[in-house]
Amino acid sequence: MIQAPRGTRDVLPSQSSRWQHIESVMREECRLAGFHEIRTPVFEHTELFLRGVGETTDIVQKEMYTFEDKGGRSITLQPEGTAGAVRLFLEHGLFNEPLPLKMYYLYCPVFRYEAPQAGRFREHHQFGVEAFGAPSPSMDAEIIALGAGIVRRLGLKDLELHVNSIGCPQCRPSYQEALREFLRPRLPRLCGSCNERFSRNPLRILDCKVPSCQEELKGAPVTLDYLCEDCSGHFEALKIALQKLGVPFVIDTGLVRGLDYYTKTVFEMIAALPDGGHFTTFGGGRYDGLVELIGGPPTAGIGFGLGMERILSVMEGHGLFEGERSEAPGVFIASMGQEAALAALTLAQSLRESCLSADMDHAGRSLKAQFKYAGRLGSPYVVVIGENELQSGKYTLRDMQSKEEVALSPAELIETLKKGALR
Ligand SMILES: [Zn+2]
Ligand SMILES: [Zn+2]
Repeated sequence: MIQAPRGTRDVLPSQSSRWQHIESVMREECRLAGFHEIRTPVFEHTELFLRGVGETTDIVQKEMYTFEDKGGRSITLQPEGTAGAVRLFLEHGLFNEPLPLKMYYLYCPVFRYEAPQAGRFREHHQFGVEAFGAPSPSMDAEIIALGAGIVRRLGLKDLELHVNSIGCPQCRPSYQEALREFLRPRLPRLCGSCNERFSRNPLRILDCKVPSCQEELKGAPVTLDYLCEDCSGHFEALKIALQKLGVPFVIDTGLVRGLDYYTKTVFEMIAALPDGGHFTTFGGGRYDGLVELIGGPPTAGIGFGLGMERILSVMEGHGLFEGERSEAPGVFIASMGQEAALAALTLAQSLRESCLSADMDHAGRSLKAQFKYAGRLGSPYVVVIGENELQSGKYTLRDMQSKEEVALSPAELIETLKKGALR
């Protein structure tokens, strides 16, 4: 048996309505906030991610699916969504349009070569929003409120926004120096990765998951104390805007996010797990230097990403899909004999044209087996077409719950069902 590759997952027919529910909430909230959907290819030139994600990141160094195609080009399956969005923004000259340009992507496949046993997928799907050409902190607030509105509407509990500012190319060097000074005597007690990060990007050390490294970081200088006037003004304005919007937040000086390109605002929305723990629903930040880094004009940018599989499984854990709309056909048409089967086929078509979902037997079942099958599908109504019904031109409509039956012409039947049927 050929199986799906490790770290990938199928969505079964019985599961897709849950995905559609999540997606419809995301689409609707984005539409209300003036964000438009984009779709980009699953693979890009490797160079895009080397520049756009950063050569020193774990993603680029360890996790990318990179290969040479038959034309000798280095191709990479996208490990995140932002770089592709920036490439699209540049390639189509969208920076010449009235800015800001607000976009989102939904069910965007991202690929990372990670250990699947850690509950991580090698292919997972992201929802992400990006806004280009909006340097004002009001955009930070808008985009955070958009994400907060989505996870709130999805029913996630105990939401807590963590925010921080990690400064800009003007003020970060002095912070990095202070951090290095603090870390230098502690280097022998930091892990190997942190020792590598020390010279290249000491901020990444704050992100280290090794407990002993976290222990050593106690009392480290924080970025907020080193912000330039522009950055601290931006952060103050964001805090005021979030208060006005009623988005509760905590300032998390340890929050730096794993990517090189963030400037000023970084944020994560934390929510409760069913077992009492917590997880990050969505996270992102401002990336005012990224468009330029990828070869475009200096353009402010900000965005966030959300792992869709994770949200779905947490929502399932919280029981948030109970009482969901049934996907069962509204009417099942049972028939006996060839002629009746043809009548069933045309009735099903008429019902569908009237926007009523209908299904019938296609496996040559007996009438008894068709009723059993209708019961398994969960159809609330069954129409029976047999010899008597064909002769009288009136079909029997049966309410599967009350067992009530009426004989109706096809036209009456459609009218009755459209009005909400027998109940
Ligand atoms: Zn600054
Ligand atoms: Zn470490």
